[in-house]
Amino acid sequence: MSHDASVASFIWCKRRYAISQASVIPRPEHNISRSLISEAALRVLYRLLHAGYDAYLVGGGVRDILLKREPKDFDVTTNARPEQVRQIFRNCRLVGRRFLLAHIHFGQEIVEVATFRASHNQGEKGGIMEDGRILRDNVYGTLEQDAWRRDFTVNALYYNLRDFSLLDFGNGIEDLRAGILRLIGEPCSRYKEDPVRMLRAIRFAAKLDFKIDSDTETPIKKFAYLLREIPPARLFDEVLKLFLGGKGLQTFELLRHYDLFTELFPRTEKALVSQKNQILFNFLSHVLSSTDERISAGKPVTPSFLFAALLWEPVRYEARRQSGMPMLEALHFAADHLLQEQIGRVAIPRRYTLQAREIWFLQERLAHIRGRRHSHLLDHPCFRAAYDFLLLRVASGEDVHSLASYWTQLQLDKGIFIDNPAFALL
Ligand code: ATP
Ligand code: MG
Repeated sequence: MSHDASVASFIWCKRRYAISQASVIPRPEHNISRSLISEAALRVLYRLLHAGYDAYLVGGGVRDILLKREPKDFDVTTNARPEQVRQIFRNCRLVGRRFLLAHIHFGQEIVEVATFRASHNQGEKGGIMEDGRILRDNVYGTLEQDAWRRDFTVNALYYNLRDFSLLDFGNGIEDLRAGILRLIGEPCSRYKEDPVRMLRAIRFAAKLDFKIDSDTETPIKKFAYLLREIPPARLFDEVLKLFLGGKGLQTFELLRHYDLFTELFPRTEKALVSQKNQILFNFLSHVLSSTDERISAGKPVTPSFLFAALLWEPVRYEARRQSGMPMLEALHFAADHLLQEQIGRVAIPRRYTLQAREIWFLQERLAHIRGRRHSHLLDHPCFRAAYDFLLLRVASGEDVHSLASYWTQLQLDKGIFIDNPAFALL
């Protein structure tokens, strides 16, 4: 962004959001209480305050408590520098490539502590930009500047343990009440600075059931392509949060609506568009809704299954094009090729792609049930996942019904427990 443009957007923003004048919401006017904050987060906050620093609870923890939801984790922000935070906590690790953060470990729980940061064009030196995108962001700043560089107004609410008040710099409370997701500042430059904010908009809209404000929404389709500049490892982290956050189906539909899905899984989108029938869409919808159900029931979910499902049709398509090759061999060949291409977008780690491949290969191996001994497949470590995968193919309308029934019956005959045999035998 040119200097003039950045100054203009800052002035515009100041006028609209009165950044330097936070409204203070006193304790009686909000529902945040210490009993709703984890003990670990409280300990971090108190320890920083006692050491003479400022410290606030911010982000999803504050937002979710205000919405009477259970926070996923707690984020703390402070004027202590990461090295100073490390000196206070023994259980602290400094992490982060784009910016340095302190992770304070309490058993399984991690409290993330970020130093107040300014936007790249304010505060001290330390930000590295390229074509309007933030590459490195260690520009420390004041509390007000920290609020300005956050993504959405509802994510920029600060809880102050000194007087139990809430600081609202960007009308976050109003947006929270109205169920609106609104970017802080000028949307186009905020997306150019960090295109992942488009994915975050979709994720929060689905998770919170919020409407995306129209100024925040408008540039998304136009800027979707900017996701190609994001390191695939970062997109992998985002993809897990998008699809395994409990609202996977709705998120999938929103991502497609805003032309973002194609940036993450281009071959899958191509297959969705080119398929005349609904089978692939049905299949992915079934996979995602059953994943959502498992998450809400507190059951474990595996990323391998998700990636196997998302890439199944492109792999199968590629395999079918290998004329003259036996199908299993063609699937191996197609899996190599497709995964190589896919990890250039979303860096799915090998431990997940290995299992996804087994699920695909088992679809083929489970299909050959005549004239051979095949019950040993029941002992395959990925059999259960491959069988569930097969049932979802049945549910989506694919003609593999009798095959699925065969494997259901075989398991019942062997006394293997099946969750819902009536469904499986349908
Ligand atoms: P949850 O943890 O429930 O997914 P969250 O809002 O806490 O949601 P985090 O990724 O934990 O999300 O980030 C914590 C806070 O850091 C956010 O609420 C937001 O204020 C800020 N933040 C995170 N990512 C960005 C970003 N890409 N651009 C600007 N601010 C961000
Ligand atoms: Mg968080």
